[in-house]
Amino acid sequence: MPMPCEVMNCPDDADTTINLGVSDDEQDILPMTLCHKHAIAIRDGELYSLASDGSGGLQLGADAVPEVVSWVMNPTGAKHPALTLHLGRSGQVEQTIHLQIDPIAARAIAAATAPPTS
Ligand SMILES: [Zn+2]
Repeated sequence: MPMPCEVMNCPDDADTTINLGVSDDEQDILPMTLCHKHAIAIRDGELYSLASDGSGGLQLGADAVPEVVSWVMNPTGAKHPALTLHLGRSGQVEQTIHLQIDPIAARAIAAATAPPTS
C-alpha cells in the first residue's frame, strides 16, 4: 500500500525518501517520504518547516514558517525597548512585526548580539 506524501495537505502518494537536516547544524537527520513533485521542490531549495501541530507533517513554500530576514533593535522613535522583525521567505520580506519587550530581555538581546570586545 503506498504511503502518503508527508507534506501537509498533499493528496499524492510518496515515492521518494529525502533526509532533511532539522537542526541548526543540520546534523540531526529526519527521513521524510515525499511525492515526486515535493521531493524536487525540496532538492531545489524550497523553504520548509515541520508542522507545529505535532503531526510530523512538512510545511512547504508559502505554508512554511517564515524566517527572520532582518531585525532592528530599538527602531527610531520607540519609546520603550522594542524589536522590529522583518519576516519572509527566500530573503524577501513579507511581514513586519513590531514587538515591545521588557528591559531585561532588551539587555539580554543587546549582550548576545554585541560585537566581540577584544
Ligand atoms: Zn507531496
